[in-house]
Order: sequence, then structure tokens, then C-alpha cells
Amino acid sequence: MFLFKFLKITRGDGMNIIIIGAQGSGKGTHSDRLSEKLGIPHISTGDIFRAEVKKGSELGKKVEGILNSGKLVPDEIVNEVLKKRLSEKDAKKGFILDGYPRNLEQAKNLDKIAKIDHVLYLEISDEKAIERISNRWQCKNCNTIYNLITLPPKKPGICDKCGGPLYQRDDDKEENVKKRLKIFHEITEPIIKYYKKKGILDIVNSESEVEETQRRIWSVMKNWKEMKKQGNE
Ligand code: AMP
Repeated sequence: MFLFKFLKITRGDGMNIIIIGAQGSGKGTHSDRLSEKLGIPHISTGDIFRAEVKKGSELGKKVEGILNSGKLVPDEIVNEVLKKRLSEKDAKKGFILDGYPRNLEQAKNLDKIAKIDHVLYLEISDEKAIERISNRWQCKNCNTIYNLITLPPKKPGICDKCGGPLYQRDDDKEENVKKRLKIFHEITEPIIKYYKKKGILDIVNSESEVEETQRRIWSVMKNWKEMKKQGNE
């Protein structure tokens, strides 16, 4: 019984987590690391859309222009995509949601399809975000994110994990970044208040280098596990 409880809390069982942060806050990188640590999938709506664009699917064709312009995909489309992804088997043991919800309507929609346990807000100033994004490169195959200054690949232009080619996203160009930061402050920030009110929000400053931010996240995660342990007793 004790062993069962221990195994349960060392994995991500039942832990449904959202990571919120402006572009450049390190959401993707830290979601990947949390996902590995907890053994639960990292679900990024942005990655799902980019994969559809790459495949040239109907959905991909519909959203390609929106993605390139840095605007938001309409709620009806995102909600449908998310519902389908969360119904997949691997998401039943918990998940890390990155890029969704992006507005209050999406947050309320999410409440109808899943119970969220924790929301982690990675806080960063606009200046730091712009500086980071202009150095950000991503793997075309596996979506791993690098930063040419703080987290460079071992070989320039090549992914350490899968050997795929690295590229700079269109929406990472400076004018699009500014547009996306404006959207973040106007539309996404209110959901931080929404989760604060629910008492499930943790804020981590994400301006330091990756390893320091990770240490801070691990210490928040320890508290979550403690809370879960107490809840299971
Ligand atoms: P991201 O990788 O999270 O920055 O997402 C890239 C792009 O995908 C965004 O700029 C939007 O165009 C679209 N997108 C991703 N998630 C959402 C969402 N929850 N709501 C609306 N648009 C989204």
C-alpha cells in the first residue's frame, strides 16, 4: 500500500498542469523537462498546429496564415483540437499543457473537460523576452528548443536529441514577437488572475538562466507532491 502510494506520487499520475508564460519565458523547454521528470505528456497547441502545417492537412492550411502573422487561432478550432488531444490515452495519467488556455473563454472551456491541479506562471519582462526570442531556434523534427546564447546545440544548426535541422520560426521575428507580447498582456494575463482566485497558481521568475529556473520549478513541484501526498493519506 505504502509502495503503491509512493510510486503514484513519484510519477505524474493524475497531475494536470498548465504552464503559462509570455513568449521567451522558457515554457517549451521547462514543459519538456517537467514532462520527462513526471512521465506525463507535454501538450503544446502551438506544436500541434505547426505539425499540421508541416503535414499540409486541411487544418494546417486553415491556420498557417494565422500562425505566421502571430495572431490567435479562433477558439472553436483550438478547443476542438485540444479536446481531441486530451482524449488520447497518454493524457489520462496527467499532462502538461503549454499554450492553452490563451484567454478566459478557453480557460472556462478547459474546466468543462479536465480538472486542473496546478498552474505554473513563468514570469519574464518584455525586454528579456525579446532578447531571448531573437536567439531562439527550434528542431524541425522533434520541436526541441535551443537558445544560441543560453542553451546552444552542441553542433551549430543540428538538434542534440535527434540530429534534425534547426530553424527560426517566422513568428519569432521582432515585429511579430511584439504583437504576440501585446496579445499576451491583453488577453492571456487575465487568466492568471482566474487561476490565482482558484488557489492553484504558482509564480516562478524565469529571467535567470535555464538551470536556475529549473531549480525553482523543482522546488515548487516538491510542494505539489507534498500536497498530493497529504491528499492521498
Ligand atoms: P505557441 O507555440 O504556443 O507560441 O503558438 C504558436 C501559435 O499557434 C500562436 O501564435 C497562435 O497563432 C497559435 N495558437 C497556439 N495555441 C493557441 C491557443 N490556445 N489559442 C489560439 N491560438 C493558439
